[in-house]
Amino acid sequence: MKLFLVVPCYNEEAVLPETARRLREKYDGLMAAGKISPDSRIVLVNDGSRDRTWEIIRELHAADPTFRGICLSRNKGHQNALMAGLMTVRHECDAAISLDADLQDDINAIDAMVDKFAEGYDVIYGVRSSRKKDSFFKRTTAQGFYKLMRAMGVETVYNHADYRLMSRRALDALAEFPEVNLFLRGIVPLVGFRSTEVTYERGVRAAGESKYPLKKMLAFALEGITSMSIRPIRLITTLGCLIFTVSLGMLIYSLIRYFTGHTVAGWTFLSVSIWGLGGIQLLAIGVIGEYIGKIYLETKRRPKYIVSEYLGGDEE
Ligand code: UDP
Ligand code: MG
Repeated sequence: MKLFLVVPCYNEEAVLPETARRLREKYDGLMAAGKISPDSRIVLVNDGSRDRTWEIIRELHAADPTFRGICLSRNKGHQNALMAGLMTVRHECDAAISLDADLQDDINAIDAMVDKFAEGYDVIYGVRSSRKKDSFFKRTTAQGFYKLMRAMGVETVYNHADYRLMSRRALDALAEFPEVNLFLRGIVPLVGFRSTEVTYERGVRAAGESKYPLKKMLAFALEGITSMSIRPIRLITTLGCLIFTVSLGMLIYSLIRYFTGHTVAGWTFLSVSIWGLGGIQLLAIGVIGEYIGKIYLETKRRPKYIVSEYLGGDEE
């Protein structure tokens, strides 16, 4: 099996030499055990780093052809760097594993992923069994993130980041998703095929600093929701319906107050207007939103289906 590793690197000069050494060691082991073929590669994607990351990648490649380098023209973010790597190598490999450059995701899980691939799985998610080594802040915000995703109707694998194996045909299917707003954790489940999980313990960053400060995490969460779900729009519609119903109640209540004489002049008219108009306006925004949501989903040009097998399809 020809396995490619795709590693996005953004300002990772501090950790890259160590990562490269550890990954090479892992590859040696897997090759010696005959689990992966000798022409498997480790592909380092430089995401517009400002430090020596690309020089290090060049040196690695010059010294050892197992390492390959892809340099993006500028910083495009983690998700795009990943996609660039996966899409560049997909024609050559049997499967590709994406993982971060900082060794937080245990590379020993690669063995289990390769075994599962041999069993016939197309997508194998790396799932964190515990986040004890993450800071309290990172842990709570990250878990809040997964819960929010679910509440907003985005199907994701709990505690899975972007550490996963995808077979060649799963990668080909992923290529059918031409969207620009990329949230891979939400798209990969849509790709389908047989999938399973491999658990590992998440470690601490081997060196260097996190490239995901809170600001980027929030932006990422927002991207995830708005690129995968139109539930927020639906919430407005629901709210509109609710307030409109309340306004009908208000109408009855105001009329009762009016006829029983418990009111000042003009109050009935004003209160009914406020509730009625507010409700109708929200409802109208919701209806428009529903159409915008439809337009939005259409513009993504996602595949309507992906065929995984066609028995007898090769008859000539
Ligand atoms: N990364 C990237 N481009 C960016 C930000 C991050 O390619 O704009 C890479 C980074 O080099 C690392 C991975 O994405 O390999 C995950 O980043 P990090 O480990 O800093 O995130 P954290 O684990 O703290 O969430
Ligand atoms: Mg990390």
